[in-house]
Amino acid sequence: MKLKLIAITTLFVTTTLSSQSLKPSNTYQHFVNSTKEIFDSLVKIRRDLHMNPEISKQEKRTSKIVAKYLRDLGLEVKTNIGGNGVVGILKGGKEGKKIAWRADMDAIKTKEPDVVDFISKNEGVRHICGHDVHTTIGLGIATVLSQQKENLKGTVYFIFQPAEETFTGAKDMIEDGLFDIIEPNEIYGLHIGPGESGVINFKSNELFAYQRSLKVTFQPSANKKELENFMNDILNGFSRNPLKGSPWDIINNTTDPKIGITSKETIYRDYFFIEGTKLYKDQGTTIFSASFFETNSSNTYSIPLEIKNQILNSKYKNLFISIGYSRDNPTPINDSELTKMASKTISSFYNKEMFKPLYGQIPFFGEDFIYYQQKVPGVFFLLGGSNIEKGINSMPHTPNFAVDETTIKYGVQSFATLIFERANSK
Ligand SMILES: [Zn+2]
Ligand SMILES: [Zn+2]
Repeated sequence: MKLKLIAITTLFVTTTLSSQSLKPSNTYQHFVNSTKEIFDSLVKIRRDLHMNPEISKQEKRTSKIVAKYLRDLGLEVKTNIGGNGVVGILKGGKEGKKIAWRADMDAIKTKEPDVVDFISKNEGVRHICGHDVHTTIGLGIATVLSQQKENLKGTVYFIFQPAEETFTGAKDMIEDGLFDIIEPNEIYGLHIGPGESGVINFKSNELFAYQRSLKVTFQPSANKKELENFMNDILNGFSRNPLKGSPWDIINNTTDPKIGITSKETIYRDYFFIEGTKLYKDQGTTIFSASFFETNSSNTYSIPLEIKNQILNSKYKNLFISIGYSRDNPTPINDSELTKMASKTISSFYNKEMFKPLYGQIPFFGEDFIYYQQKVPGVFFLLGGSNIEKGINSMPHTPNFAVDETTIKYGVQSFATLIFERANSK
């Protein structure tokens, strides 16, 4: 059956969609129409979640709403996985692939006032990372896909994760047996990014830079200033900072058309930069600490070793006690084959201007989606939520963070299509 691309919205919802004869563009048109039908109710859900935000590990109300919604759709639902985690299982009418979609649910403590009319009722807590929108998009995808249950080959798992902000929720769900309950072949998810509403960004391999904190312990030093300069010189020797010392203004720079992450000439392709250093006394020792961002994972291992070598070959050799470093942020690492396949599918139906590769790794952010990707190949996308004309800026964790709600529609229809196509693929 071929679908005509005319506005017969109500018909589409009840018309069965024969997946075998359809191209992704037709499937997309179907999901555009079914998303339109539920858009107002999704906005209501999003605003309710926004008005009732819950911090990491306290997502009781949110997870209850999610579980009830999924049950009402007829999905098999498991609750309290790794804390407040919820899983919904949608079994298609035919055999096929098993695809997981992940959405996170937690909000953040902040004293900054809300910038929208539907302000948070939970004082000091707000959704400034867009997880209210992620949860809503997840529920939207579950709705439109469950309407297509009979035509869906395979199984779709919806993972609603708690405690992303503390980077513990994914680990907790996995440790609590998530992958005993579900057996996905592929996993996908998204985060609201600073792009314009509906713009989808993708990238293979690392999405973010690696952030590391370094701590070097010395015997008490007579000349602290000299030691500090010595250590700063070592660190500066590793610097690959394309901005040559000027501050990293991520809000303006990452979205800049010339140097930003969507430009082939981006400054975010290859860098090492130091965020801050400090020298202080601690329990009879002198400590030099620094945190840095690095795009290349192998450098994150070699740099501390080289720093140690340089100290041991210097006059500070006898003062040196130890060097250690912590892993501060997890970055999604997108499977390159799946990224290729998923981007081929999306670009076959989506507006080219709104589907853009990223050429650089974003500094300052982390995402615990990587813990799923360590078990199952997957791709994590960014979905823009800004609207420059309306003054809406969706850069996560900024005080004025807000989301243009039209992006809910783009998120639901695009990723429902992707999941449907991946589940039905061979
Ligand atoms: Zn966040
Ligand atoms: Zn987030």
